Amino acid sequence: MTVAYLDHAATTPVVPEAIAAVTAAMVEVGNPQSLHGAGRWARALVEESRERVAAALGARPGDVIFTAGGTESDNLAVKGGYWARRAADPARVRLVISAVEHHAVLDAAAWLAAEQGAQVTLVEVDAWGRVRPEALERALHADGGPATVALVSIMWANNEVGTVNDIATLAAVAHEHGVPMHSDAVQAVGQLPVDMTAAGVDALTLSGHKLGGPPGSGALLVQRELGLQPLLHGGASEREARAGTLDVPGIAGLAAATVLAVREQSQRAARLVALRDELVDAVTDACPEAVLNGDPHTRLPGNAHLGFPGCEGDALLLLLDAAGVHCSTGSACTAGVAQPSHVLLAMGATPEAARGSLRFSLGHTSTAADVRAVADAIGPAVARARRAGLLHAPRPR
Ligand code: PLP
Repeated sequence: MTVAYLDHAATTPVVPEAIAAVTAAMVEVGNPQSLHGAGRWARALVEESRERVAAALGARPGDVIFTAGGTESDNLAVKGGYWARRAADPARVRLVISAVEHHAVLDAAAWLAAEQGAQVTLVEVDAWGRVRPEALERALHADGGPATVALVSIMWANNEVGTVNDIATLAAVAHEHGVPMHSDAVQAVGQLPVDMTAAGVDALTLSGHKLGGPPGSGALLVQRELGLQPLLHGGASEREARAGTLDVPGIAGLAAATVLAVREQSQRAARLVALRDELVDAVTDACPEAVLNGDPHTRLPGNAHLGFPGCEGDALLLLLDAAGVHCSTGSACTAGVAQPSHVLLAMGATPEAARGSLRFSLGHTSTAADVRAVADAIGPAVARARRAGLLHAPRPR
C-alpha cells in the first residue's frame, strides 16, 4: 500500500544534503575540544556550521548554542534564562508564557513553579490561537507588574493549529517593559521567513528533525547579553551554557538542512499553500461539517488542522492509518485516556470538539497524490468514526 505521509510537523524526512553532511563528518574522527589536527578539523567544521546557521537566521555566530533538539533548547531558554535573570535580580520571579506553548516550554515553566517557587502567568490566546499584543500587556502587568518578570516565551508558530504570531510586535511589547523574549521557532524555520534580529527576539529555538536535518540535533540562538545558566554541567563547551562533547555529524547535518530550508523557504511555502488549500477543499467537500481550526489567513503553509464534529480524533486517525494516510491528533494520552489538546481548549473549544480534530501537515516531500489519498479516504473514515463516536455519546434523557 502506498503511504501518504502527512505528519511533517511531527518529523520530516532528512534531506539528501543533510545525509551527505552527516556521512562526510561520520567517516572522519576528531573531538572539537582536542588540540591536535583531528580536533582542529572537527572544531573548524563546528564553527563553519555555526556561521551558516547564524547567517541563515539573522543571528551572530556567537549566538548559536548547539543542543540535542527543540526540547533541550526550550528548557535551556526557559530554565537557564530564568535562573540567570533571577540571580541578577531576585525580584524577577515570574515567567510569562502563552497558554498554547509546546510542552517543552509549558512543562519547563511548570517545573520551575513546582520546584523553585517561580510564578507562571499564562498569556491567553484568541479563538484562532493568536497571542494579541494587548493580552501580553495584560499578562506583563498582572501579579506585581513587569519588574517581576524574568522572561517572556511565545512561540513563533503553533505546532498543532499552525497559527503564526506577530513575533516582532510581541517582542517589542516585552522590550518596552525591559523583559527579554524567547520564541520557539521549531515549526516556523523553513516554512516562514525567520530572522532573529529583524524580529528583535533575544532567544530562538530550532530543531533539526522538523526542517530536514537529523533527529537529535538543534540549537538555541541566544544573544550573549541575555545571560544563561547551564542545564548540564561537565565542561566549558558552547560558551559554558551547554556541557558535553559536541555531536559534530549532527551539527554539520543541522547546518546543511537549515541553509537549504531557508534558501528554499519561499518556493516551498508557495507549493505547500497550494497543496494544503486543495487538501482543505477536498476534506470539506467530502465532509461539509468539517471546520478548519486556527487562523484561516496567517497560518503555517503546510498546516491543515480540522475538526470533525461527532468523531473521536483517535478513531479517525486509526481509520486513516489503515487507509495509508498518516496524520496526527493533538491529544496526548494520559494513563491510556485521550486528553483533549491544551491548545484547542485555550482557543475556547469544548473538550468534545478538541478530541474530534486532526492535523494534516505537509512538507518538502508532499505531493498531489498525498492530497488525493486524503480526499479518497476521509469521507468513509468520518462516516465510520461518527458511527463509533455515537456509541460513546451521552444517552438522551
Ligand atoms: N517546540 C515545538 C513547537 C515543537 O513542535 C516540538 C516538536 O514537536 C518541539 C518544540 C520539540 O522539539 P524536539 O522534538 O526537537 O525535541
